Amino acid sequence: MTRRSFIKMTAIALLLAPAFPLRAEEELLSITAQPKENHLPDNNEQSVRPIADDRLKDYLLKVRNPDTLHPDDIVLDNAEQQLLRAVVDKLARLCQTVGDGNFSTLGFNEALIIAGRQPSIGSFSKAELAFFEMIYSRDAGDYGFFGTKQAVALLHVIAAQEIVKIPQSGNYLFKGESLEKYTRIKNNLGDDVILTSGIRGIVKQFHLFLSKAQRHAGNLSLASRSLAPPGYSYHATGDFDIGQKGLGEGNFSELFTTTTVYKRLAQEGFVDYRYWRDNPLGVRYEPWHVKL
Ligand SMILES: [Zn+2]
Repeated sequence: MTRRSFIKMTAIALLLAPAFPLRAEEELLSITAQPKENHLPDNNEQSVRPIADDRLKDYLLKVRNPDTLHPDDIVLDNAEQQLLRAVVDKLARLCQTVGDGNFSTLGFNEALIIAGRQPSIGSFSKAELAFFEMIYSRDAGDYGFFGTKQAVALLHVIAAQEIVKIPQSGNYLFKGESLEKYTRIKNNLGDDVILTSGIRGIVKQFHLFLSKAQRHAGNLSLASRSLAPPGYSYHATGDFDIGQKGLGEGNFSELFTTTTVYKRLAQEGFVDYRYWRDNPLGVRYEPWHVKL
């Protein structure tokens, strides 16, 4: 490699790096769609291709192995991990107190009030509140999650009159489009299909995301490969998860694609997923997550 082309390659690599989150979809589509034998007009472009290929490989390695630690993952330091543990414990006690269904739609302010009133939960400290803020305000692109923010305010409240509890599931759905889609699926597929996760408010998403990070030594990037960071979950705006009755936790694995429910969903044309295989959002393949 000549000195000139090395300098050029380095400059291009630096230029591409910060742009990757914004261009993830574009790059994934263009790189995967373009056959390697495509004619490259000049040497400069030839030097870009290996960089892009490496980054694509790295990206795919992450979304295909979401629970594996990767060298550039963002991990909380020891002090932050202490806060993480404290916050996750309090959220778990809060969930026990209000029940799973109520917890899934609970607003942040309401959660603070209940925690403060219940000695069995305990108020959130200033440091814990600052920790919530830090997690909420961080750009999820830093973790490698490229979905768009769904809720702009941490204090966003889900209005009780806009939602409906789905019998036998303990989950809620938004009235309108979301409920209609689920009802169509249910009417077509019958009792075999179940709603495994519906609306998730900010508190519920905090609990899921932070619990996952806690189980993996404070690794926020790893958590974001299978759970949207708080504020970024499409479960807050209408998406939901479905499963096969009796499959339990298997409904959140690729085992779900072997079920009658999945096969019939595909036949009936309901398969329109948010996180398809090798999607450009930085998230694992989720064939159970129905996009609205
Ligand atoms: Zn989902």
